[in-house]
Amino acid sequence: MTLFDLSGQTAVVTGANTGIGQAIAIALAEAGAAIVAVGRSSMDETEAAVKKAGVGFHVIKADLGTIEPVKGIVSETISTFGKLDILVNNAGIIRRADAIDFTEEDWDAVIDVNLKTAFFLSQAAGRHMLERGNGKIINIASLLSFQGGIRVPSYTASKSGLAGLTKLLACEWAGKGVNVNAIAPGYFSTNNTTALREDPDRNEAILARIPAGRWGSPSELGGAAVFLASKASDYVHGTVLPVDGGWLAR
Ligand code: NAP
Repeated sequence: MTLFDLSGQTAVVTGANTGIGQAIAIALAEAGAAIVAVGRSSMDETEAAVKKAGVGFHVIKADLGTIEPVKGIVSETISTFGKLDILVNNAGIIRRADAIDFTEEDWDAVIDVNLKTAFFLSQAAGRHMLERGNGKIINIASLLSFQGGIRVPSYTASKSGLAGLTKLLACEWAGKGVNVNAIAPGYFSTNNTTALREDPDRNEAILARIPAGRWGSPSELGGAAVFLASKASDYVHGTVLPVDGGWLAR
């Protein structure tokens, strides 16, 4: 298990209070990493689960709708745990409307959280990682990093952009000991997908297309996150790894 052991590592996870971010924080903690949970909501539930794993836990309150908090997130992590080894850019939002009606507000809000803050937080963490000559950055992409989707123009643009950014940062930093990769979750049961699951027609159409025949549970992303955060992935750079019940294979 030493290939996947994260003991002594520090991981920053954005949006760690719920859904995919919470599941990834718990998986990294169970592999041994101390967790810095970043977000705007209560982290109590995540704190309890992470502490059960017997690792350090620290909360940084931040609204990632602007890049104002990014430098503070990195410096507070370093002052708390001495270093930042793993960054998971998970926080994200989605706004749904037909492209023809889509508003500038819904465009900017999604691009700001999903793409702009992810880039500038990666830059701030990257400065520290490059100085130390190692680090792992994991972006939470989407199937809409590969496909168009419908009624989510800013989300598709942000997640396609995030896939491109993953590759660009990998190209710049791979030779300097920093791995930048992404996970593309398929359809997972979280707040982000409540509207889809509650629409019987969309729900049925989605399930019919997933070879695994079911929605994913957030904990099923833990393995991919531990892999991309650990020594096991040291020669993996710029990949966008689908964890999707086979959706893209279809
Ligand atoms: P979720 O339950 O809605 O979680 C989204 C997370 O992002 C929450 O922690 C949320 O915090 C945080 N967040 C949003 N805006 C923020 C802001 N301005 N400042 C700080 N935190 C903010 O949905 P999820 O499914 O777990 O989503 C996590 C990531 O996975 C997102 O990037 C999403 O696009 C991606 N993803 C999800 C699926 C899926 O099927 N669920 C598929 C592909 C990709 P609050 O709770 O405070 O709002």
